[in-house]
Amino acid sequence: MKALEFRDRKRTKELLSQIEREMPGRRVKVMHVCGTHESTICRYGLREALPENLELVQGPGCPVCVTPTERVDEAVELSKKDGVIVATFGDMTRVPGSSESLVADGKNVRIVESIEDAAKMETDKEVVFFGVGFETTASTYAPVLLEEHEGFSFLGSVRRIPPAMNFLLEECGTNVDGFIAPGHVSVIIGSEAYREVVDRHGKPVVVGGFEPLDVLSSVLKLIRSIKGESKLVNDYGRAVDEEGNEKAQILIERAFEVKESNWRGLGDIPDSGLELKNEENDARKKFDLDIGKDETRPEGCICEEIITGQSKPDECELFAGGKCDPRNPVGPCMVGSEGMCNVWYRYGGT
Ligand code: SF4
Repeated sequence: MKALEFRDRKRTKELLSQIEREMPGRRVKVMHVCGTHESTICRYGLREALPENLELVQGPGCPVCVTPTERVDEAVELSKKDGVIVATFGDMTRVPGSSESLVADGKNVRIVESIEDAAKMETDKEVVFFGVGFETTASTYAPVLLEEHEGFSFLGSVRRIPPAMNFLLEECGTNVDGFIAPGHVSVIIGSEAYREVVDRHGKPVVVGGFEPLDVLSSVLKLIRSIKGESKLVNDYGRAVDEEGNEKAQILIERAFEVKESNWRGLGDIPDSGLELKNEENDARKKFDLDIGKDETRPEGCICEEIITGQSKPDECELFAGGKCDPRNPVGPCMVGSEGMCNVWYRYGGT
């Protein structure tokens, strides 16, 4: 299927009119949980085209943004050790820790494009791969973590999305009418993984794709579900099925153990973390890292409110005042391409 089919002008107008016609006569707040959805929304001006009483917010769907300060500090500490190289994706090098990031001087840091690149690095030093991500990325980490690699270990911040959605509703009092669930995570975990959000909390969930028409279609199906009976709808059937990718799930289960995990902006969420099973490869154990929780937040930064859908970037004084941008990010939401502040900076947002 060609991408243009999902950007068809006539179908776009039809969907927008249907949404307008079917909106309930009240304000509706929808949370998507993915930076790629936010990119589509901003890049194609969907927020402006949708009814004014429909509010679209981003939840904790950027893995860089939800990585807590102490995990960045652990990577920074490792990067200062003799005989250690911290290898990670480029955006993670710029996430501020409590006092510095990985890009500051005096660090042994290499930017890599994949965990394989880190595992195959030719060096006599210990390579620690600092890897963040959700279930999709976990499935790419798992095969490498299940192999033996001499002089290689893993510092992870790997998470599961459904427990965070439940936690937002249960513990944070998040007031949303429904969710658009992330398509690529759902390819791995399957649409049924969100059943608890619907059945226990009565909030509809639509699994959505990333083209502009995908997002509009998901919004329409969500509105219908909000007005009627709360449902779980798979609106991304060309990539996602009910059960997900069984092979990927088995690899994740073999490499990782489900545990409680601390999320920036949300705190400890039961069963939301994927921790390495093989403790010999766990950099935290290998280097006896003992950095406790760190609630430090950059002055003036409202990332925590953005991550939880309570605020938008233009409500941050540093964003509005031009004092935070992708070259000089003050908070994590400005760092990576999935952070809401970064998306709004690149495409504009309202
Ligand atoms: S604009 Fe910068 S300082 Fe403001 S919330 Fe976003 S990342 Fe934080």
